[in-house]
Amino acid sequence: MKKSGEKTMAKGKSKRKRYNLDLPDFNTERKPTWCPGCGDYSVWNSLKKSFVSLNLRPHEILMVYGIGCSGNGANFIKTYAFHALHGRTLPVATGAKLANHKLTVIAVGGDGDGLSIGGNHLIHTCRRNINLTYLLCDNKIFGLTNGQAAPTSDRGLRTRSEPSGVLEIPLNPVLLALASGATFVARGFSGDVKHLSEIIKKAIKHRGFSFIDILQPCITLDRSNTYKFYREKIYRIDELKNYDRKDLDRAIKTSMGEDKIPIGIFYQVEKPLYEDELKQIERKPLVDHTITDIDINRLLNRYY
Ligand code: SF4
Repeated sequence: MKKSGEKTMAKGKSKRKRYNLDLPDFNTERKPTWCPGCGDYSVWNSLKKSFVSLNLRPHEILMVYGIGCSGNGANFIKTYAFHALHGRTLPVATGAKLANHKLTVIAVGGDGDGLSIGGNHLIHTCRRNINLTYLLCDNKIFGLTNGQAAPTSDRGLRTRSEPSGVLEIPLNPVLLALASGATFVARGFSGDVKHLSEIIKKAIKHRGFSFIDILQPCITLDRSNTYKFYREKIYRIDELKNYDRKDLDRAIKTSMGEDKIPIGIFYQVEKPLYEDELKQIERKPLVDHTITDIDINRLLNRYY
């Protein structure tokens, strides 16, 4: 019997009919409006590649978007979509997953959205281990509102809100996710769509909460974290000798390296899913429960 927490395509993939969808099948009639060269195009493409490769169909996917430039993706990918309040992608995605855990649920938002007002939700979603995927579009700045400092902005970066330079040290999203108990933690780079779509694919297949920090230059508002800068700094975790993805200490140490920037999967383990242990949903999606024959009189009498 299929377990309740499995993502739609997961283990049953071999038995599923092949639908032969292609990338354009996930396009809406609207063309993206991001600045030419924005990393959001790579996320858009990588997601579509992953869906095609995983044999997913648009109605099997729910995308929950945050507020920010990346959130405009709600108009450009053909799946179910919900454009959430600022910082609230993860509570909405959690609710949707609990109501219908047959859906493949993916939350997408920027670093401003997900680490400032939404920071607490990230911590608690990590430790709950809900079976959904979260893509953090990390361009180290608030793009949609024209370039204020975000929690990941580098110390000293001059922005419109900090003209003399940012004073705080930046948050490390990978380290935060690892410390908060996430069971799949990765980092991708928008300049490498093939690698990014492979990571997204593995994150969607992972049974548990999967988090991907996606480094992507905001080519309009930040002249320091450019594609060139990242290409010179980035290396793949797969290149490290004897790297064991189950080793949390190694993952933490790797995430803290300062000279070079590792990309790839830092950490992946299997742990019990929140939804599997939640008795109320009885391994059956709430949307499949019948509510017409529920008699609430006993409950009403008790409190009357
Ligand atoms: Fe992308 Fe920056 Fe333009 Fe927003 S402002 S669309 S993040 S390049």
